[in-house]
Amino acid sequence: SKESGRNRYNFYSASMNQKALMRMETEAGLRNALERREFYVEFQPIMNAADSTVVAAEALVRWNHPTRGRIPPDQFIDLAEETGLVVPLGEWVLRTVCSRIKTWSDAGLPLIRFSVNVSSRQIERQDFAEIVRNALRESGANSAQLEIELTESCLIRHSDTNISDLFGLKEWGVSFAIDDFGTGYSSLGYIKTLPIDHIKIDRSFVRDISTDFHDQAIVEAIIAMSQRLGIRNIAEGVETIEQVRFLQERGCEEIQGYYFHRPLSAEALEELLRAQEN
Ligand code: C2E
Ligand code: CA
Ligand code: CA
Ligand code: CA
Repeated sequence: SKESGRNRYNFYSASMNQKALMRMETEAGLRNALERREFYVEFQPIMNAADSTVVAAEALVRWNHPTRGRIPPDQFIDLAEETGLVVPLGEWVLRTVCSRIKTWSDAGLPLIRFSVNVSSRQIERQDFAEIVRNALRESGANSAQLEIELTESCLIRHSDTNISDLFGLKEWGVSFAIDDFGTGYSSLGYIKTLPIDHIKIDRSFVRDISTDFHDQAIVEAIIAMSQRLGIRNIAEGVETIEQVRFLQERGCEEIQGYYFHRPLSAEALEELLRAQEN
């Protein structure tokens, strides 16, 4: 009836249901986005703190939605994890990065490191290490140029066999970073027991570093500790010259953030690397 139609309309127009609808729409769209080639990868340069050259780049996935336009990963990665889509998506990102590593090294560009974000759902798969080895083998990429970024929450639930399979990739030359360091649980346990190459100091500690003495103490302590352990440190989310100076003075090794570069298209990164070559 007309009456119930109106009620239904009122019901669905409540903002919580708008959200639910949006979510359903995103989920439906996600399912076909891989086949429709709606994803692409951007690369954010990571600079050597001492001389501001590009030493690495982090691969960050983007979704170009047919009607909603560009959707940032914060709006779909969680859903991709819940639906399991993050597994094929993550493999696609890995293969895309490996083939870039190969083309750019063949073109004679500087052999920088490329880091890829990996979700818990990917690691819980028994064949994850195998997927990485296949991607490396089939692309012909130099495995020493590939780094895997893990969050602390990523490692928390996994069995010892999964973890030792994963770190078996170190024999291939693949390196590992702990992402968002300091925001998870038992971070110190991981750096004690796992062969970690890089610690990425979370943006939340860097943001107010010029004014907040708590953040200053935390960042100084992370830098000092990583140096003693022989783990290189990277500061994330660096936006100002004051933050750069603070970090340089404390012996921070690598810097990533808008102050130097936002995430770049593959073409823009290529140009940057070409300029650096000379
Ligand atoms: P993340 O791994 O911590 O990546 C860094 C995020 O900080 C990126 O956001 C980057 O654009 C942003 N960022 C970099 N420098 C600055 C800065 O100076 N200031 C500020 N405010 N932000 C900065 P993005 O690209 O939106 O990615 C968000 C998150 O989505 C990532 O956080 C990561 O957790 C996830 N993500 C991105 N790509 C992938 C992927 O391929 N696989 C998986 N599993 N997760 C991904
Ligand atoms: Ca990351
Ligand atoms: Ca991070
Ligand atoms: Ca993060």
